[in-house]
Amino acid sequence: MADSVSDATADEGVAADDAEGTEPEVPEIDLPSDAFDAVLDALADRDPGDPLRFEGFGVARDGDDGDDGDPAGEYRLDPADGDTQTGLTERELHAALDERAPEVTDWHAFERVVGEFGPRRAFLRWLEDADGATVATRYAALAEGIERAWGELRITATVTDRGARRYDVRHADDAGVPADELDAYDDPLDARGLVKRDAKGRYRPLKTAPSLAGGWVFPDLGPRDAYEAVETIYPATVANWHREREGELDVSHWRETMARQSGIYGVVKTWDRGEGYEHVNWVAEACCDDSQCLKRREWEYDEETDLDVDGGDGAFPCREPCSVVVSAARKWTRLESEQPRTYEFELTPSEKEQVEDIIDAVADGRIDEIREADTKEGANRYRTRFLRAKLFDDEENLAGVPTEPDEEDEE
Ligand code: SF4
Repeated sequence: MADSVSDATADEGVAADDAEGTEPEVPEIDLPSDAFDAVLDALADRDPGDPLRFEGFGVARDGDDGDDGDPAGEYRLDPADGDTQTGLTERELHAALDERAPEVTDWHAFERVVGEFGPRRAFLRWLEDADGATVATRYAALAEGIERAWGELRITATVTDRGARRYDVRHADDAGVPADELDAYDDPLDARGLVKRDAKGRYRPLKTAPSLAGGWVFPDLGPRDAYEAVETIYPATVANWHREREGELDVSHWRETMARQSGIYGVVKTWDRGEGYEHVNWVAEACCDDSQCLKRREWEYDEETDLDVDGGDGAFPCREPCSVVVSAARKWTRLESEQPRTYEFELTPSEKEQVEDIIDAVADGRIDEIREADTKEGANRYRTRFLRAKLFDDEENLAGVPTEPDEEDEE
């Protein structure tokens, strides 16, 4: 396996061999008949002399009838760094292209197998740095396997001895695990069943939450299926990543998104009266932090007002508050409409700190990591049960103080 390449380092990783001047080991590639036929078809659609370009050379129909004494073959080949060969027969053209099979199969892979310009093609090219590294460098790296991270996914691109791309898609935690030790799938739509629940079987309302369960693999996908699997696991992430690269990401900020809410969600408009945006900072910190969502938040309070909270480092952007955030905001709208009251409790300094520890541990999802024996931790279960035993009355009021003052008067 080639050096692993992450989001941040992939470009450097694939280009490193060139920079150091070492010759990459380009694998032996046999030119498959479908790639050669695709070249002939593409030439047939072009005028004589109009070249089909590959890395390092071009091929055209010659348009020469042989009357001037030149060979009467149909094709010509123009290397960037050598003499033009004219009058090539189909057999001779095949032999010439077979010698350049990596360049021809690279053209075939993207122009014919992957096809039209758009997110799928851009993503598959990005996986192997096809817009930055030479064919030789990439084929040498693909022979070993080029790894890319996408959220919690690890995608490994390889090339067959006939120049076709194959992809292994799995959870990053399963990197290096033999495929036969994982549950293997070959239909990308099977990914729908893999994203529903986390490793503990809990429903995942947010598909880009960093809670994808592992233990599975798509070990041998073609280009289209690899793209399909990724978009099934992380819906619209490639599409929005591509829009962003093209400068076409249409961001819908908090204010305009909330203004659009209707029905049961219409209430969030009352939380958002244009009187400051501190509450939106809290929402973003609660929901959109990298620890909670792998998307990089690009939406702000409004066009003119950025939030004070960092948007995160995710590879793919978030273009508007999602349904999970809108739904939570609906709840907070109701809760935040309450007026504050003053309650009086007596806590020891350690008990106050313990309450803070418990809030921290729940907010960070660390409860399961705190061992029963670790009573140094404020959120330790025994310590928390002790606090409850000491401070709750029979009605579960903290320190015997009722939530509603009237409750005390009524008694
Ligand atoms: S709004 Fe926040 S939580 Fe929802 S998808 Fe975007 S970044 Fe993630």
